[in-house]
Amino acid sequence: MAKISKENLDNKHVSFSKEKLIKAGYKLTKSREVIIKILGETLKLYDADSLYLEVKKDNLDIGISTIYRTLELLNRLQIICRIIFGSGKTYYMLAEDCHKQTFIYMICNNCKKIITNNECLNNSIKIRLKDSAKKDILDNCHLKIDNYQVLFTGLCDECNES
Ligand SMILES: [Zn+2]
Repeated sequence: MAKISKENLDNKHVSFSKEKLIKAGYKLTKSREVIIKILGETLKLYDADSLYLEVKKDNLDIGISTIYRTLELLNRLQIICRIIFGSGKTYYMLAEDCHKQTFIYMICNNCKKIITNNECLNNSIKIRLKDSAKKDILDNCHLKIDNYQVLFTGLCDECNES
């Protein structure tokens, strides 16, 4: 596991998110920096517990309550957003990724890993709603749509090989 250092924080979503935090008047504390980095450089979705485990791998002294508080703050500042799946579990991703595009996911049936931000997966499909879809759904189904998700299930690369 690579050590977290300023040098490898060159991902543009990561730098954009850090700037947003500073512009909002907040300090870039270690926990904020680490969470932004993990969310910005991953192809997986994290919930608070799995973020905590990831932070532990780097031997950083950040407790689970700090993780929760940091996630709350970053969410309030719209630096990250929440994704709630049918299971009720809450996952987080950088807001840049979630407000501008359809969420495209793949959940591995075997290891339960959730893959997202995967260019190959995203490029394999082009899906858009018809222009009037949101209005039709509101008028006919009385459901207010703000975004939509495409969810695939199957086997991830690791599970498929073994
Ligand atoms: Zn798997």
